[in-house]
Amino acid sequence: MRYKKAVTFSYDDGVEQDRRLVEIFNYYKMKSTFNLNTGIQSEESCFEIKGVPIHRMNQEELDLLYHGHEIAVHGLTHIAPAGLTEKELEKEFLTDARNIERIYGKYPVGMAYAYGSVDDRAANYLAKIGIRYGRTVEATHGFDLPNDLLHLKTTCHHEDEKLFELAEEFLNNEATEEKPMLFYVWGHSYEFDVNQNWGRIEKLCDMLCGKTDIFYGTNAECLL
Ligand SMILES: [Zn+2]
Repeated sequence: MRYKKAVTFSYDDGVEQDRRLVEIFNYYKMKSTFNLNTGIQSEESCFEIKGVPIHRMNQEELDLLYHGHEIAVHGLTHIAPAGLTEKELEKEFLTDARNIERIYGKYPVGMAYAYGSVDDRAANYLAKIGIRYGRTVEATHGFDLPNDLLHLKTTCHHEDEKLFELAEEFLNNEATEEKPMLFYVWGHSYEFDVNQNWGRIEKLCDMLCGKTDIFYGTNAECLL
């Protein structure tokens, strides 16, 4: 990494609210990774949280929407990977990766484990099919570059009560060649609708944006 500090985001499930989130990221020149479930990636795949209807988007239109960002694996049908057999992993991981390659023209290099669930077999299988990083849902509240790319932890979820405190700390602390810093936030864009707090991500982007000493990249660009 040329820069000593980097910011990256990771958002799951390919839901309709990603449209608004991408607009915000593009406005502030932030880069994100979007993790898709190609086996259920269509409008018919819907659910409801606190009365807010949430549905996935049809995949045909997604490469335009996510242009400039990264598309990564989230599992063919969003099954928790821990405990799956090799055969099941082939379906969940490899088929999803190949679908992404077929639809979007590029074999993915990353994954977000559905529910953050992973065991040794799943992590090893991921490496075996050439996917280089796997994101969990664990928060470190820190900025160290990860040493285990197949069990990636993030700085925090966007709902974390320490989010803005951590952003201040990231901006104020000095990074060095030996100790670069990564601010890594994850979540689901529908949560901003459910919790009616889109202002939260706008405030975060506003705090972090436009710094000449920070690299803004997708997960792959920041990690690999
Ligand atoms: Zn998910």
